[in-house]
Amino acid sequence: MQPTVSDHILFTRGVPATEALPTELLSECMQAVLESPAGKTVLQYGHNGGYLPLRQLLGEQYGVSPDQVLIGNGSLHLQDLISALLIQPGDIVFTEQPSYDRAIKTFRRRGAKVIGIPLELDGIDTTQLEEALTRYTPRFLYLVPDFQNPAGVTTSAEKRQKLAELAQRYGFWLLEDIPYRQLRYSGSSAPLLRELVPERTLTISSYSKLISPGLRVGYVIGPLDFIKQLTALAEDTILAPVLPSQAAVYEFHKRGHFETNLEYLKRLYAPRLAAMIDALKASFPNVAFAEPEGGFFVSVTLPENSNYHNLLIRAKEQGLTLTDGSAFFASPLHEGADSASERFVRLPFCALTPEQITTGIKRLAELVR
Ligand code: PMP
Repeated sequence: MQPTVSDHILFTRGVPATEALPTELLSECMQAVLESPAGKTVLQYGHNGGYLPLRQLLGEQYGVSPDQVLIGNGSLHLQDLISALLIQPGDIVFTEQPSYDRAIKTFRRRGAKVIGIPLELDGIDTTQLEEALTRYTPRFLYLVPDFQNPAGVTTSAEKRQKLAELAQRYGFWLLEDIPYRQLRYSGSSAPLLRELVPERTLTISSYSKLISPGLRVGYVIGPLDFIKQLTALAEDTILAPVLPSQAAVYEFHKRGHFETNLEYLKRLYAPRLAAMIDALKASFPNVAFAEPEGGFFVSVTLPENSNYHNLLIRAKEQGLTLTDGSAFFASPLHEGADSASERFVRLPFCALTPEQITTGIKRLAELVR
């Protein structure tokens, strides 16, 4: 029997669950902001670095001066600003392979040649990275070290240490993008690259997965001079940040909602991750994949002997919407090395119930059989 439209399962975008969007708490915060003396200030053109109390709070959290924090309209916007500042047409940028598709696109749009360094189950392949550094001089290495989008991989402490050494030795920036880091359902975190090599690291994060993507509040932390230049560029492009959102996020923290909301998110998402891992192990017993301890994504590279012809179209007919896996792949380090891209499937689990996840993975297994 063909699945009906209503029972169609979307393994596409990494969005928060609708029930995780805290409408009541946010409306309380937004109202408090607008009715406070700051109400008029946040509705006016404001400082381009962002809402000062939130910059101060983030400065305390990361152990830096508020002047080292720039808050922008979501983190993708900041990736674009950073690219505008760092990339000259023809420059080389390294990413993990696979990597976040929109980041790859952003760097390319700014004129970079983006080269993907293979990702292993414990982070980027540092041997291949080191070899690549003898051939290329990248402006930066972009990585998502915690619960990577798309692969779910977390970079080990040893590899972080190695990356810090290489960045210092070869003089390139590390762009660590950490929107999922706080969504850890078990285990403990490795140090931030910022803690290992602050003078070479730009740390980017966002409230999109922790409160709401619609607020458009993301931030970047870096060396003072760099943030100053970036803030000037922000002024030239967006004119003013979305201060009401930033002030509401600050209020959300001040009222203690951030911690309670985060605990709620973890309770909601942890069983979904468990359902995904169980379903994959049951349906794909011979396929190795990273088992994340948090975040939004698991991914698999499907077996080589299956038929991938028109996979996305056939999946849709079976009630399953998939993202084209090749979008997550930059130019390979070695020509012809990435035939795996067409077999790569990202599986976002947070916005689906455990039952939907189990059904979706069964459908995927039937499809490639
Ligand atoms: N970086 C990564 C790794 C992401 O997964 C996302 C969202 N999918 C973003 C950045 C963009 O987030 P924002 O909403 O803050 O622009």
